[in-house]
Amino acid sequence: MQTRDGREIDVPQDAMNALTARLRGPMLTAGAAGYDEARSVWNAMIDRRPAVVVRCLGVGDVVACVQFARAHDLLLCIKGGGHNIAGLATADGAMMLDMSLMRGVWVEPGRAIAHAQAGCLLGDVDRETQLHGLATVLGFVSATGITGLTLGGGFGYLTRRWGWTSDNVVGMDVVTADARLVRASEEENPDLFWGLRGGGGNFGVVTGIDYAVYRVGPEIVGGVVAWPASDAPQVLELYRTLAEQAPPELTLVALMRMAPPAPWLPKDMHGKPIVALLACHSGTLEDGEKAVAPIKAFGKPVGDVLVRRPYAQMQTLLDATQPKGRRYYWKSEYLPRIEPALCETVIAQAAGIRSPHSAVVLFQIEGALNDLRDDHSPVGNRDAHYVLNVTGAWEQAADDQANIEWVRNTWKQLEGFSTGGNYINFLTEDEGPQRIEAALGAGLPRLAQVKTTWDPDNVFRTNRNITPG
Ligand SMILES: Cc1cc2nc3c(=O)[nH]c(=O)nc-3n(C[C@H](O)[C@H](O)[C@H](O)COP(=O)(O)OP(=O)(O)OC[C@H]3O[C@@H](n4cnc5c(N)ncnc54)[C@H](O)[C@@H]3O)c2cc1C
Repeated sequence: MQTRDGREIDVPQDAMNALTARLRGPMLTAGAAGYDEARSVWNAMIDRRPAVVVRCLGVGDVVACVQFARAHDLLLCIKGGGHNIAGLATADGAMMLDMSLMRGVWVEPGRAIAHAQAGCLLGDVDRETQLHGLATVLGFVSATGITGLTLGGGFGYLTRRWGWTSDNVVGMDVVTADARLVRASEEENPDLFWGLRGGGGNFGVVTGIDYAVYRVGPEIVGGVVAWPASDAPQVLELYRTLAEQAPPELTLVALMRMAPPAPWLPKDMHGKPIVALLACHSGTLEDGEKAVAPIKAFGKPVGDVLVRRPYAQMQTLLDATQPKGRRYYWKSEYLPRIEPALCETVIAQAAGIRSPHSAVVLFQIEGALNDLRDDHSPVGNRDAHYVLNVTGAWEQAADDQANIEWVRNTWKQLEGFSTGGNYINFLTEDEGPQRIEAALGAGLPRLAQVKTTWDPDNVFRTNRNITPG
């Protein structure tokens, strides 16, 4: 196995046996049934082999593993949903804590709080909260892990109303580097609580997250309308002007890509370039229909599924476009506004897309997140109004270079429109310290202090690592 500082060591078999006897969940090594599935992550560009994978079944398992890793000085990694594009969930030779069996969700409608175990996917939380007509701010693809998303900030269709996902966390349960179970909230360990809401997995193993929940749905007006890419100048101008006036209940997303083989798009359009607008209105159905009317009335769409639908279904609408196991490479920036010149560049760059799965996407996030002080949490970036994501996605390793080049070139053309900040959770494996500085900026010195207090030996290092002082 690998130690924290990269040495290879043999852990005695009797010690491993003693650990196995303490665990409720299974411990898997190479060759065991389920090992390959447990070690794999969403991005097929990442292929690493932890020495052991412990599939934790409860907080007790997490405590046992952290104690064991400390005693033997082992490299630890933590897997939530495994969706991090840089593969931060996995490391060669490490002991992986696979949290994905811990997926319980308990909703307290009276207190407007949802308690979620750390292995939950976004869809788990939406499914349970929606039984009560409630929701918290989560992302656009339901198979994403809640913990990695929340620890890095998190945004989605409800961000305009309630801010980053992490702004809506009321408490977390954490197993620390010295294997203690502690609570992090405004009242208990507030420095740790601050650090966890944007500082990633640097401070401990999160075992549960409590979210504030709000009345949403269960039915909303949402969906997508698509036009041929030749209409992009007009459609992106519509996006620009509608987004500027949109009430906080309405979130608009614009994207350019090849039409996927989806049943709502005519067969003769499949594989052809399109421009699409996604809309989600989380207020009343009547207000929603009024708000999206200009989109539905615009030009001659090739497909329109912008309708009344369950909120939980809206939260899965993009799932099929982002399957686990493709090769992915992204570049992202926060934008202060959508400028006509940016739209022109997006259109020009989209014309050169190298794969039917790649896209240029603009997410609207402006609203509640801009109302809080920059130091409210380490996520910062309270000047961001949109997220630009250039998403390369393809099937074969032989196509890596062409697709990565397209993403990098497109980003180079668009970088100048940025606020200067970017989203830490969208950073690909090859992004260096400068990009992390741009993502976390002003929060870094305070994060280093929190790290020094809670993890002075840097036990938790398979992440966007903050060096302890
Ligand atoms: C298809 C797709 C769509 C996305 N959409 C959105 C979106 O709409 N909005 C958004 O904000 N983001 C989005 N993201 C980005 C997402 O927030 C990050 O990929 C995030 O890291 C995913 O969390 P995870 O738990 O799945 O990650 P993992 O890969 O499992 O882990 C990521 C990091 O979090 C750490 N971590 C995980 N669990 C724990 C734990 N229990 N305790 C401590 N540390 C832990 C890991 O160690 C690792 O460093 C998307 C990503 C993908 C791939």
